[in-house]
Amino acid sequence: MDVKKLPAKAITTIGIGSVYPIYFPESIEELKSILKSEKVYILGGGSNTVLPERIESKLVSLKKFKKVEIKKNSIVLGAGVSLPEVLKLQIKEKFSLFEFLAGIPKATVGGLVAQNAGAFGKEIKDFLVEISFLDVNTLEVVILKDFTEFSYRKSPFPGKGVVLQAEFRIKRDRNVKEQIEHYVALRLSKQPPFYLQTAGSTFKNPHEGSAGRLLDLAGLKGFRIGGVKFSEVHANFCVNEGGSFEEFKELISTAKMKVKKKFNVELELEVKIPD
Ligand SMILES: Cc1cc2nc3c(=O)[nH]c(=O)nc-3n(C[C@H](O)[C@H](O)[C@H](O)COP(=O)(O)OP(=O)(O)OC[C@H]3O[C@@H](n4cnc5c(N)ncnc54)[C@H](O)[C@@H]3O)c2cc1C
Repeated sequence: MDVKKLPAKAITTIGIGSVYPIYFPESIEELKSILKSEKVYILGGGSNTVLPERIESKLVSLKKFKKVEIKKNSIVLGAGVSLPEVLKLQIKEKFSLFEFLAGIPKATVGGLVAQNAGAFGKEIKDFLVEISFLDVNTLEVVILKDFTEFSYRKSPFPGKGVVLQAEFRIKRDRNVKEQIEHYVALRLSKQPPFYLQTAGSTFKNPHEGSAGRLLDLAGLKGFRIGGVKFSEVHANFCVNEGGSFEEFKELISTAKMKVKKKFNVELELEVKIPD
């Protein structure tokens, strides 16, 4: 199995952290062998992950799970296929699927399913036909066709297991390229530019409304601790400008405290932090 030492910048979009060995299993058997003996954090594109400088878990990437099979009304995608790869394929084969997520850098199919990613009123679960995953307890491959455990930015994964591949419903669409361009423009009009180092939304939206709005009203737009700050464009985006994990932690606990004090609302992290 390939093991590479890679810096946080190469494996997460926010780029906070140190250098880590990353395991790249090529088969289900290799994946099983790691899961049997180790505490593992499955790393997708790292676009919703913030890494502490030191972690106990082994970082495992499914980058080599690259299956792509287009059927009449659906597509099967391996967990390691990236969002940009799917969007390119959508343009080439003219079908609609993930255009509402266009502009998110580096995310993978595994991470999109696990986070039930969504935007502009749509989410991954709306498109799912079935998920094939490796059950962490039995180490058997299981097929999931019931998605009732999915909700806003929530799925049973990675708790239940490692997503190996998923089948999604697709529709033919001759204008998908224009749709992708439309969503990229829409995203850029609301969010910080793509070249900044962020992990997307830091907190989930609470029942009381938009986390970004509450953070803004609590005075956190542009608020900085060391090399990490909340964006001036959208207060829920944390921007890394050479900061450390300790600074990131302090920034989020300050934000939680200020929002709790002003609105009596408990913000919940959307980004994932491995142990
Ligand atoms: C600029 C920017 C904009 C963003 N905008 C949005 C948005 O509009 N909507 C939205 O929902 N998200 C958004 N995000 C967040 C992020 O892209 C999504 O959460 C995405 O689904 C994460 O995918 P990933 O592959 O990068 O996952 P990672 O960050 O690598 O992992 C996230 C979680 O998924 C788990 N996971 C990854 N792969 C697997 C697998 N194969 N099996 C089981 N568990 C797995 C990880 O263990 C972790 O718990 C944005 C991020 C950025 C940087």
